[in-house]
Amino acid sequence: MCMEVECIFCAIVKKQVPAKIVYEDEFTLAFLDVRPRSKGMTILVPKQHFENFDENPELSLKVFSSASTISERIKKALQPTAVTISLMPSEVKHFHLRIYPYYKDEVPLIESQPKEMKESELEAVAEKIRQARVEEKPKVEKKEEVKRTEEDILWIKRELELA
Ligand SMILES: [Zn+2]
Repeated sequence: MCMEVECIFCAIVKKQVPAKIVYEDEFTLAFLDVRPRSKGMTILVPKQHFENFDENPELSLKVFSSASTISERIKKALQPTAVTISLMPSEVKHFHLRIYPYYKDEVPLIESQPKEMKESELEAVAEKIRQARVEEKPKVEKKEEVKRTEEDILWIKRELELA
């Protein structure tokens, strides 16, 4: 518990430290890197503190799921050529993914110099990502799939009863 108080990401989750939050749900939170290597570089964390993905596989999956949503929003908001994620050892011992947008003239290599961005520029980028709406279509399709599966199971059960 003591560690959580000292952890910068826990402090951001608790809104004790300001950050340019671009995404938040029940389990995860994402905010802009203040010294990004490319425009819109985002750090995504689970709200609960743990260090490595294998300590909490269930929550890690939720982090990856959020990464996918955020990636779609970044694509819509900033039109990068690609978006990738990385999971690297870090000084901050709170599990996080880094989300890197790539642009033709802006490749976020580790050896690249971080971009110096003004507070107002960061806020403008954050607001664009927040506003980028992703179509809910895939979720609806998923629900239908689940229904069909449940129906299938019912039919399989009935067939078993008949046999
Ligand atoms: Zn933490």
